Amino acid sequence: MSQGRQRLAMSRPKQGAAGRTGFWRISKPVVDKDKCDSCGICRMYCPDNAIDGNIEIDLEFCKGCGICANECPKKAIEMVRDR
Ligand code: SF4
Ligand code: SF4
Repeated sequence: MSQGRQRLAMSRPKQGAAGRTGFWRISKPVVDKDKCDSCGICRMYCPDNAIDGNIEIDLEFCKGCGICANECPKKAIEMVRDR
């Protein structure tokens, strides 16, 4: 069996009854790609599955909870004031 990194099957977020949940956000995560090693831990913890395999964050659905920044072992995500 391959020892390479395995991708998890995850569905993308969709607009639900509450609309685009990104509108709830007051701060947004910003990824420092120089620090990020693409481990994917932030993706696993994001409650909205708003982070894709390239560690790009879908701000239409990111609620700004900060869990990704909290869990990142490289401290590569900073929460910044959004609106
Ligand atoms: S947890 Fe941090 S280091 Fe890992 S993929 Fe996310 S931003 Fe990159
Ligand atoms: S701030 Fe919260 S909702 Fe937004 S990407 Fe990070 S974990 Fe997901």
